[in-house]
Amino acid sequence: MSAKIRTQEEIAARVKALESMLIEQGVMTTQAIDRMVEIYEHEVGPQLGAKVVAKAWSDPEFKARLVENASAACKELGISGLQGEDMVVVENTDTVHNIIVCTLCSCYPWPVLGLPPNWYKDPQYRAAITREPRRVLREAFGFTVPETVEVRVWDSSSEMRYWVLPQRPAGTEGWSQEQLVGLITRDSMIGVGTVGSVAS
Ligand code: FE
Repeated sequence: MSAKIRTQEEIAARVKALESMLIEQGVMTTQAIDRMVEIYEHEVGPQLGAKVVAKAWSDPEFKARLVENASAACKELGISGLQGEDMVVVENTDTVHNIIVCTLCSCYPWPVLGLPPNWYKDPQYRAAITREPRRVLREAFGFTVPETVEVRVWDSSSEMRYWVLPQRPAGTEGWSQEQLVGLITRDSMIGVGTVGSVAS
């Protein structure tokens, strides 16, 4: 994609033109395209990323492989596909909080998070999160990162799609991966939210 930011209408028109061309040339059928949209709207979503995170929390060797090469580690769980060829996982720690953005357009790791939410594509989020991440988290997402924790913002591109490995919450010792999955939100893997809290 060129550096020029396009409007939604321009993008929609281009997609429509490309779609017509692929159908005319017999590369794709309308059914195949409809099926693909359905897959990314209903079947591929943050529940897959949550599965990866829960495994990483439970299996230190898998976590090491995930941080080393996210796309390869996800493939071990049968998770791969469009827009997921070059994923990079950044790990939250006691001292570092990570956030992802695509300042140029809306690059996002589809195989693990599904399609990006509208606000992720919003020029305002894309500009403000890099300039004043703490303020955006606080004001737009109601989430305060302690001053003692460094905030890092990762700018994705078509070559490199980042996502966040949140910290495992205290009080979940002995939990199964299925239980852990229930705590992991989409926003915690974008870095604009936290994982669910553990009832004591
Ligand atoms: Fe992008």
